[in-house]
Amino acid sequence: MSFSATCVPKTGRKRADGLLLGWQTAVVTTPGSAADSAVYAKRMARVRAAMAEQQIDTLLLSVGHDLPYLTGYTAMPLERLTMLVVPRDGDATMLIPALEAPRVAEQQGVFELFPWGETEDPTSIVGKLASGSKRVAIGDQMWARFLVELMPHLQGTEYTRAVDVVGALRMAKDPAEIDALALAGAAVDKIAGELQRGEIELVGRTEAQVSAELSRRIIAEGHEKVNFAIVAAGENAASPHHHAGSRVIREGEIVLCDFGGTMAGYCSDTTRCVFTGPIDPEVADAYAVLQTAQQVGVKAGAVGTPCEEVDRATRQVIVDGGYGEYFIHRTGHGIGMEEHEDPYIVEGNSLPLEAGHAYSIEPGIYVPGKWGMRLEDIVVATPSGPLALNASDHSLVSV
Ligand code: ZN
Ligand code: ZN
Ligand code: ZN
Repeated sequence: MSFSATCVPKTGRKRADGLLLGWQTAVVTTPGSAADSAVYAKRMARVRAAMAEQQIDTLLLSVGHDLPYLTGYTAMPLERLTMLVVPRDGDATMLIPALEAPRVAEQQGVFELFPWGETEDPTSIVGKLASGSKRVAIGDQMWARFLVELMPHLQGTEYTRAVDVVGALRMAKDPAEIDALALAGAAVDKIAGELQRGEIELVGRTEAQVSAELSRRIIAEGHEKVNFAIVAAGENAASPHHHAGSRVIREGEIVLCDFGGTMAGYCSDTTRCVFTGPIDPEVADAYAVLQTAQQVGVKAGAVGTPCEEVDRATRQVIVDGGYGEYFIHRTGHGIGMEEHEDPYIVEGNSLPLEAGHAYSIEPGIYVPGKWGMRLEDIVVATPSGPLALNASDHSLVSV
Protein backbone atom coordinates (compact mmCIF):
# COMPACT_ATOMS: atom_id res chain seq x y z
CA MET A 1 0.00 0.00 0.00
CA SER A 2 1.65 3.18 -1.11
CA PHE A 3 0.56 6.56 -2.28
CA SER A 4 2.17 9.86 -2.98
CA ALA A 5 2.71 11.88 0.15
CA THR A 6 4.70 14.68 -1.33
CA CYS A 7 3.65 17.25 1.23
CA VAL A 8 4.40 15.18 4.29
CA PRO A 9 7.48 16.62 5.95
CA LYS A 10 10.17 14.68 7.77
CA THR A 11 8.24 14.89 11.01
CA GLY A 12 5.65 12.54 9.52
CA ARG A 13 5.46 9.12 11.11
CA LYS A 14 4.28 5.78 9.85
CA ARG A 15 1.10 4.24 11.08
CA ALA A 16 0.77 0.53 11.65
CA ASP A 17 -1.20 0.30 8.40
CA GLY A 18 1.63 1.87 6.46
CA LEU A 19 0.07 5.28 5.90
CA LEU A 20 2.17 8.27 6.78
CA LEU A 21 0.84 10.66 9.34
CA GLY A 22 2.18 14.02 8.38
CA TRP A 23 2.63 17.39 10.01
CA GLN A 24 1.50 16.25 13.43
CA THR A 25 4.26 18.00 15.27
CA ALA A 26 3.98 21.11 13.16
CA VAL A 27 0.31 21.63 13.93
CA VAL A 28 -0.55 24.34 16.40
CA THR A 29 -3.75 23.40 18.16
CA THR A 30 -5.79 24.48 21.09
CA PRO A 31 -6.06 21.20 22.91
CA GLY A 32 -9.54 20.31 24.10
CA SER A 33 -9.90 19.94 27.83
CA ALA A 34 -9.46 16.51 29.34
CA ALA A 35 -13.19 16.47 30.04
CA ASP A 36 -13.93 17.18 26.38
CA SER A 37 -11.67 14.39 25.21
CA ALA A 38 -13.31 12.01 27.65
CA VAL A 39 -16.77 12.93 26.34
CA TYR A 40 -15.69 12.45 22.71
CA ALA A 41 -13.94 9.17 23.51
CA LYS A 42 -17.10 7.88 25.17
CA ARG A 43 -19.25 8.89 22.20
CA MET A 44 -16.80 7.23 19.83
CA ALA A 45 -16.93 4.01 21.87
CA ARG A 46 -20.72 4.00 21.67
CA VAL A 47 -20.61 4.62 17.92
CA ARG A 48 -18.24 1.67 17.52
CA ALA A 49 -20.60 -0.53 19.53
CA ALA A 50 -23.43 0.48 17.19
CA MET A 51 -21.18 -0.23 14.19
CA ALA A 52 -20.46 -3.71 15.52
CA GLU A 53 -24.16 -4.34 16.09
CA GLN A 54 -25.00 -3.33 12.53
CA GLN A 55 -21.93 -4.84 10.92
CA ILE A 56 -20.71 -1.52 9.61
CA ASP A 57 -16.97 -1.65 8.94
CA THR A 58 -16.22 2.02 8.40
CA LEU A 59 -17.97 5.29 9.24
CA LEU A 60 -17.18 8.31 7.05
CA LEU A 61 -18.12 11.79 8.25
CA SER A 62 -17.48 15.12 6.60
CA VAL A 63 -19.43 18.40 6.60
CA GLY A 64 -22.38 18.20 9.00
CA HIS A 65 -22.99 17.89 12.71
CA ASP A 66 -22.00 14.26 13.34
CA LEU A 67 -18.35 15.31 12.99
CA PRO A 68 -18.33 17.96 15.75
CA TYR A 69 -20.48 15.67 17.89
CA LEU A 70 -17.72 13.05 17.81
CA THR A 71 -14.63 15.27 17.62
CA GLY A 72 -15.46 18.86 18.57
CA TYR A 73 -14.41 20.00 15.09
CA THR A 74 -16.77 21.54 12.52
CA ALA A 75 -15.58 21.06 8.94
CA MET A 76 -15.56 24.02 6.58
CA PRO A 77 -18.01 23.41 3.73
CA LEU A 78 -15.26 23.47 1.13
CA GLU A 79 -14.28 21.68 -2.05
CA ARG A 80 -11.19 20.54 -0.15
CA LEU A 81 -12.11 17.32 1.62
CA THR A 82 -12.31 17.00 5.40
CA MET A 83 -13.19 13.45 6.42
CA LEU A 84 -13.22 11.49 9.62
CA VAL A 85 -12.58 7.82 8.91
CA VAL A 86 -13.72 5.60 11.77
CA PRO A 87 -12.95 1.90 11.35
CA ARG A 88 -14.96 -0.42 13.59
CA ASP A 89 -11.70 -1.54 15.19
CA GLY A 90 -8.59 0.58 15.06
CA ASP A 91 -7.79 4.25 15.29
CA ALA A 92 -9.96 6.95 13.75
CA THR A 93 -8.24 9.33 11.35
CA MET A 94 -9.29 12.85 10.46
CA LEU A 95 -8.13 13.83 6.99
CA ILE A 96 -7.96 17.56 6.79
CA PRO A 97 -6.69 20.09 4.26
CA ALA A 98 -3.27 21.06 5.66
CA LEU A 99 -4.23 24.71 5.75
CA GLU A 100 -7.21 23.93 8.03
CA ALA A 101 -5.18 21.79 10.43
CA PRO A 102 -4.29 24.64 12.80
CA ARG A 103 -7.98 25.03 13.62
CA VAL A 104 -8.35 21.48 14.89
CA ALA A 105 -8.13 20.84 18.59
CA GLU A 106 -6.81 17.33 18.81
CA GLN A 107 -8.65 15.06 21.20
CA GLN A 108 -6.29 12.57 22.76
CA GLY A 109 -7.34 9.01 22.12
CA VAL A 110 -10.23 10.03 19.86
CA PHE A 111 -8.65 10.50 16.43
CA GLU A 112 -5.36 11.09 14.70
CA LEU A 113 -4.95 14.07 12.45
CA PHE A 114 -3.92 13.52 8.84
CA PRO A 115 -3.34 16.83 7.07
CA TRP A 116 -3.15 16.44 3.29
CA GLY A 117 -1.28 18.75 0.98
CA GLU A 118 -2.60 20.62 -2.04
CA THR A 119 -1.16 18.17 -4.58
CA GLU A 120 -2.44 15.02 -2.89
CA ASP A 121 -5.62 13.14 -3.71
CA PRO A 122 -7.46 12.86 -0.39
CA THR A 123 -10.17 10.61 -1.84
CA SER A 124 -7.68 7.88 -2.63
CA ILE A 125 -6.29 8.19 0.91
CA VAL A 126 -9.81 7.61 2.26
CA GLY A 127 -10.13 4.69 -0.16
CA LYS A 128 -7.00 3.12 1.32
CA LEU A 129 -8.07 3.72 4.93
CA ALA A 130 -11.46 2.15 4.22
CA SER A 131 -10.27 -0.59 1.87
CA GLY A 132 -11.79 -4.01 2.42
CA SER A 133 -14.90 -2.54 4.06
CA LYS A 134 -18.06 -4.43 3.18
CA ARG A 135 -20.42 -1.87 4.70
CA VAL A 136 -19.66 1.84 4.96
CA ALA A 137 -21.85 4.40 6.72
CA ILE A 138 -21.87 7.89 5.16
CA GLY A 139 -22.73 11.16 6.90
CA ASP A 140 -25.92 12.79 5.60
CA GLN A 141 -24.30 16.05 4.61
CA MET A 142 -21.22 14.73 2.88
CA TRP A 143 -21.08 16.31 -0.56
CA ALA A 144 -22.19 13.94 -3.30
CA ARG A 145 -19.00 14.70 -5.25
CA PHE A 146 -16.83 13.13 -2.55
CA LEU A 147 -18.91 9.96 -2.42
CA VAL A 148 -19.01 9.71 -6.22
CA GLU A 149 -15.22 10.09 -6.32
CA LEU A 150 -14.74 7.58 -3.51
CA MET A 151 -16.92 4.79 -4.89
CA PRO A 152 -14.44 3.52 -7.51
CA HIS A 153 -11.88 3.09 -4.70
CA LEU A 154 -14.17 0.75 -2.77
CA GLN A 155 -15.24 -2.25 -4.82
CA GLY A 156 -18.20 -4.32 -3.68
CA THR A 157 -18.99 -2.02 -0.80
CA GLU A 158 -22.53 -1.48 0.45
CA TYR A 159 -23.43 2.03 1.66
CA THR A 160 -25.71 3.06 4.46
CA ARG A 161 -26.49 6.28 6.31
CA ALA A 162 -24.43 7.35 9.32
CA VAL A 163 -27.68 8.18 11.10
CA ASP A 164 -27.95 4.41 11.72
CA VAL A 165 -24.99 4.56 14.10
CA VAL A 166 -24.88 8.19 15.28
CA GLY A 167 -28.57 9.17 15.20
CA ALA A 168 -29.85 7.46 18.35
CA LEU A 169 -26.83 8.70 20.26
CA ARG A 170 -27.26 12.29 19.12
CA MET A 171 -30.98 12.23 19.88
CA ALA A 172 -30.51 11.34 23.55
CA LYS A 173 -28.91 14.49 24.95
CA ASP A 174 -26.65 14.25 27.98
CA PRO A 175 -27.02 16.71 30.89
CA ALA A 176 -24.38 19.10 29.49
CA GLU A 177 -26.21 19.23 26.15
CA ILE A 178 -29.55 19.85 27.88
CA ASP A 179 -27.92 22.67 29.86
CA ALA A 180 -26.68 24.18 26.60
CA LEU A 181 -30.18 23.96 25.07
CA ALA A 182 -31.67 25.52 28.22
CA LEU A 183 -29.21 28.43 28.13
CA ALA A 184 -29.94 29.09 24.47
CA GLY A 185 -33.67 28.85 25.25
CA ALA A 186 -33.38 31.35 28.10
CA ALA A 187 -31.58 33.76 25.78
CA VAL A 188 -34.40 33.79 23.20
CA ASP A 189 -37.00 33.94 25.99
CA LYS A 190 -35.48 37.23 27.05
CA ILE A 191 -36.00 38.58 23.55
CA ALA A 192 -39.58 37.23 23.47
CA GLY A 193 -40.19 39.13 26.72
CA GLU A 194 -38.86 42.32 25.15
CA LEU A 195 -41.17 41.78 22.19
CA GLN A 196 -44.16 41.22 24.46
CA ARG A 197 -43.42 44.30 26.58
CA GLY A 198 -43.42 46.43 23.44
CA GLU A 199 -39.68 47.14 23.62
CA ILE A 200 -39.26 46.13 20.01
CA GLU A 201 -41.04 48.66 17.84
CA LEU A 202 -43.41 47.06 15.32
CA VAL A 203 -46.05 49.38 13.83
CA GLY A 204 -44.65 51.39 10.93
CA ARG A 205 -41.59 49.21 10.46
CA THR A 206 -41.14 46.53 7.84
CA GLU A 207 -40.98 42.85 8.72
CA ALA A 208 -37.38 42.86 7.49
CA GLN A 209 -36.43 45.67 9.88
CA VAL A 210 -37.93 43.81 12.83
CA SER A 211 -36.24 40.60 11.69
CA ALA A 212 -32.88 42.40 11.60
CA GLU A 213 -33.49 43.71 15.11
CA LEU A 214 -34.37 40.23 16.40
CA SER A 215 -31.17 38.95 14.78
CA ARG A 216 -29.08 41.64 16.49
CA ARG A 217 -30.62 40.73 19.83
CA ILE A 218 -30.03 36.99 19.26
CA ILE A 219 -26.30 37.73 18.90
CA ALA A 220 -26.32 40.25 21.77
CA GLU A 221 -27.78 37.55 24.04
CA GLY A 222 -24.78 35.29 23.43
CA HIS A 223 -25.53 33.20 20.35
CA GLU A 224 -22.65 32.82 17.90
CA LYS A 225 -25.02 32.51 14.97
CA VAL A 226 -28.55 33.48 13.92
CA ASN A 227 -30.37 30.58 12.29
CA PHE A 228 -33.60 32.38 11.40
CA ALA A 229 -35.72 35.32 12.46
CA ILE A 230 -39.12 34.94 10.82
CA VAL A 231 -41.34 38.00 11.15
CA ALA A 232 -44.73 37.69 9.47
CA ALA A 233 -47.48 40.27 9.79
CA GLY A 234 -51.21 39.78 9.24
CA GLU A 235 -51.95 37.67 6.16
CA ASN A 236 -48.23 36.88 5.75
CA ALA A 237 -48.37 34.89 8.99
CA ALA A 238 -50.49 32.32 7.13
CA SER A 239 -47.27 31.15 5.43
CA PRO A 240 -45.40 29.18 8.13
CA HIS A 241 -41.89 29.90 6.82
CA HIS A 242 -42.64 33.38 5.46
CA HIS A 243 -39.53 35.32 4.49
CA ALA A 244 -39.56 38.69 6.26
CA GLY A 245 -39.91 41.36 3.60
CA SER A 246 -40.89 44.93 2.84
CA ARG A 247 -44.42 44.59 4.20
CA VAL A 248 -45.00 47.37 6.76
CA ILE A 249 -46.54 46.25 10.05
CA ARG A 250 -49.83 48.00 10.76
CA GLU A 251 -52.03 48.69 13.74
CA GLY A 252 -54.56 45.93 14.50
CA GLU A 253 -52.90 42.77 13.25
CA ILE A 254 -51.08 39.69 14.43
CA VAL A 255 -47.29 39.56 14.14
CA LEU A 256 -45.69 36.12 14.25
CA CYS A 257 -42.04 35.97 15.32
CA ASP A 258 -40.14 32.65 15.10
CA PHE A 259 -36.48 33.02 15.88
CA GLY A 260 -33.43 31.17 17.07
CA GLY A 261 -29.70 30.76 16.77
CA THR A 262 -26.81 28.60 17.85
CA MET A 263 -25.22 29.21 21.23
CA ALA A 264 -22.17 27.22 22.34
CA GLY A 265 -22.98 24.76 19.58
CA TYR A 266 -26.65 24.19 20.49
CA CYS A 267 -29.77 25.72 18.99
CA SER A 268 -32.61 27.83 20.28
CA ASP A 269 -35.99 28.09 18.56
CA THR A 270 -39.13 29.78 19.83
CA THR A 271 -42.26 31.30 18.34
CA ARG A 272 -44.44 33.97 19.92
CA CYS A 273 -47.20 36.05 18.36
CA VAL A 274 -48.20 39.53 19.46
CA PHE A 275 -51.14 41.68 18.34
CA THR A 276 -50.70 45.36 17.52
CA GLY A 277 -53.55 47.01 19.42
CA PRO A 278 -56.78 45.51 20.80
CA ILE A 279 -57.02 41.84 19.83
CA ASP A 280 -59.53 40.92 17.13
CA PRO A 281 -62.10 38.50 18.67
CA GLU A 282 -61.81 35.97 15.83
CA VAL A 283 -58.04 35.84 16.30
CA ALA A 284 -58.41 35.61 20.09
CA ASP A 285 -60.78 32.68 19.64
CA ALA A 286 -58.38 30.74 17.46
CA TYR A 287 -55.46 31.61 19.72
CA ALA A 288 -57.22 30.10 22.74
CA VAL A 289 -57.45 26.82 20.81
CA LEU A 290 -53.81 27.07 19.74
CA GLN A 291 -52.58 27.74 23.25
CA THR A 292 -54.49 24.76 24.66
CA ALA A 293 -53.17 22.52 21.88
CA GLN A 294 -49.62 23.60 22.59
CA GLN A 295 -50.02 22.93 26.33
CA VAL A 296 -51.49 19.50 25.62
CA GLY A 297 -48.61 18.77 23.25
CA VAL A 298 -45.98 19.70 25.82
CA LYS A 299 -47.64 17.54 28.49
CA ALA A 300 -48.01 14.58 26.11
CA GLY A 301 -44.24 14.06 25.93
CA ALA A 302 -43.80 11.33 28.54
CA VAL A 303 -40.87 8.94 28.12
CA GLY A 304 -42.10 5.92 26.16
CA THR A 305 -44.80 7.81 24.24
CA PRO A 306 -44.43 7.41 20.47
CA CYS A 307 -43.67 10.68 18.71
CA GLU A 308 -46.77 10.34 16.52
CA GLU A 309 -48.99 10.21 19.59
CA VAL A 310 -47.64 13.55 20.73
CA ASP A 311 -48.56 14.91 17.30
CA ARG A 312 -52.02 13.35 17.51
CA ALA A 313 -52.74 14.75 20.99
CA THR A 314 -51.76 18.25 19.89
CA ARG A 315 -53.63 18.05 16.59
CA GLN A 316 -56.81 16.71 18.17
CA VAL A 317 -57.28 19.91 20.17
CA ILE A 318 -57.08 21.98 16.99
CA VAL A 319 -59.41 19.62 15.13
CA ASP A 320 -61.92 19.76 18.01
CA GLY A 321 -61.64 23.56 18.02
CA GLY A 322 -62.71 23.61 14.36
CA TYR A 323 -59.36 24.62 12.86
CA GLY A 324 -58.04 21.17 11.85
CA GLU A 325 -57.75 22.01 8.14
CA TYR A 326 -55.60 25.04 8.98
CA PHE A 327 -52.90 23.12 10.91
CA ILE A 328 -50.82 22.21 7.88
CA HIS A 329 -47.55 20.88 9.29
CA ARG A 330 -46.16 18.40 11.79
CA THR A 331 -46.22 19.31 15.48
CA GLY A 332 -42.47 19.53 15.91
CA HIS A 333 -38.90 18.58 15.19
CA GLY A 334 -35.94 17.45 17.24
CA ILE A 335 -33.29 20.04 18.07
CA GLY A 336 -29.71 19.97 19.25
CA MET A 337 -26.63 20.90 17.27
CA GLU A 338 -28.99 21.25 14.30
CA GLU A 339 -32.11 23.38 14.34
CA HIS A 340 -34.09 20.50 12.80
CA GLU A 341 -33.00 16.95 13.57
CA ASP A 342 -34.49 13.68 14.85
CA PRO A 343 -36.89 12.94 16.45
CA TYR A 344 -39.68 14.43 14.35
CA ILE A 345 -43.04 14.80 16.09
CA VAL A 346 -45.15 13.64 13.18
CA GLU A 347 -47.75 11.04 12.26
CA GLY A 348 -45.94 7.92 11.08
CA ASN A 349 -43.04 8.24 13.51
CA SER A 350 -43.63 5.47 16.03
CA LEU A 351 -40.31 6.03 17.79
CA PRO A 352 -40.94 6.19 21.55
CA LEU A 353 -39.59 9.25 23.35
CA GLU A 354 -36.53 8.58 25.47
CA ALA A 355 -35.07 10.59 28.33
CA GLY A 356 -32.90 13.27 26.75
CA HIS A 357 -34.88 13.62 23.54
CA ALA A 358 -35.25 17.34 22.79
CA TYR A 359 -37.88 18.58 20.36
CA SER A 360 -40.20 21.45 19.54
CA ILE A 361 -43.94 21.57 20.14
CA GLU A 362 -45.14 24.15 17.66
CA PRO A 363 -48.72 23.81 16.48
CA GLY A 364 -50.02 26.51 14.17
CA ILE A 365 -53.26 27.70 12.61
CA TYR A 366 -52.97 29.32 9.18
CA VAL A 367 -55.96 30.89 7.46
CA PRO A 368 -54.82 31.87 3.93
CA GLY A 369 -55.27 35.52 3.04
CA LYS A 370 -56.24 36.47 6.60
CA TRP A 371 -53.83 35.59 9.41
CA GLY A 372 -51.70 32.84 10.89
CA MET A 373 -50.40 31.92 14.31
CA ARG A 374 -47.95 29.48 15.89
CA LEU A 375 -46.74 28.88 19.42
CA GLU A 376 -43.46 27.07 19.98
CA ASP A 377 -41.43 25.78 22.89
CA ILE A 378 -38.51 23.38 23.03
CA VAL A 379 -39.22 20.42 25.30
CA VAL A 380 -36.93 17.77 26.77
CA ALA A 381 -38.28 14.34 27.74
CA THR A 382 -37.07 13.46 31.24
CA PRO A 383 -37.81 10.52 33.56
CA SER A 384 -39.94 12.87 35.69
CA GLY A 385 -41.90 14.18 32.71
CA PRO A 386 -41.57 16.67 29.89
CA LEU A 387 -39.55 19.79 30.66
CA ALA A 388 -40.27 22.92 28.61
CA LEU A 389 -37.16 25.03 28.03
CA ASN A 390 -39.09 28.16 27.04
CA ALA A 391 -40.96 30.12 29.66
CA SER A 392 -41.88 33.46 28.13
CA ASP A 393 -45.58 34.43 28.22
CA HIS A 394 -47.59 31.97 26.12
CA SER A 395 -50.62 34.20 25.65
CA LEU A 396 -51.30 36.49 22.70
CA VAL A 397 -50.06 39.79 24.10
CA SER A 398 -51.41 43.08 22.82
CA VAL A 399 -48.58 45.55 22.21
ZN1 ZN B 1 -40.07 25.76 10.96
ZN1 ZN C 1 -39.29 27.98 15.24
ZN1 ZN D 1 -39.09 24.96 15.34
